Amino acid sequence: MKGTSAKDREGKAAPGDGLAVIEEAIPFGDFYVDLQGIVRATKVSTFELKALLKELKVRGIPMRSQVPKPGDYVVGTVDEDLPEDMYSITIYKINNEETKAGITAILVTGRRPRGRGEGAPVELNDIVRAKILGVVDGIAFAALSDDRCGVLWTRCSRCGGKVARQHGGYVRCLKCGNREYRRLAPDFLSVDAIS
Ligand SMILES: [Zn+2]
Repeated sequence: MKGTSAKDREGKAAPGDGLAVIEEAIPFGDFYVDLQGIVRATKVSTFELKALLKELKVRGIPMRSQVPKPGDYVVGTVDEDLPEDMYSITIYKINNEETKAGITAILVTGRRPRGRGEGAPVELNDIVRAKILGVVDGIAFAALSDDRCGVLWTRCSRCGGKVARQHGGYVRCLKCGNREYRRLAPDFLSVDAIS
């Protein structure tokens, strides 16, 4: 009975979609088998089940737009302060196109030019635009490398209040008056840039 009901199947799958039970076919490609013995796709994939051959091929579709390339502009949130003037950012836009959550990059800020401001160019939770320098072992490295780059949104690091732009790369807190340095993007606080 079981043998006669076996049919070839093919289609698209999202990550986690169940494609077959492990007894049905030997899987190849981008899959995992869960505790119940169900073969599931690890990525957005196409799959092809050949019932007679008992063969299941799962091919992950590379999502080009999801992987930043050198020269891409990314917008993301600074979520970790790393050693050596580096930060981890979570990217949510690549070249103005929204991306799925979970893509991170290392923002390399380097040393500030002498005489420009005080303090770090970015702070935790800032939203920044940065340019991708390169991808090494799947890790994207970005920098505030040209005039389009910089902080798009920030809050006072002392009290969390809203800030306004000041001359010379400073922001001033509208609540507590605290003045602090940021490397600001030209379109700082632009709703278009951060949404
Ligand atoms: Zn403040």
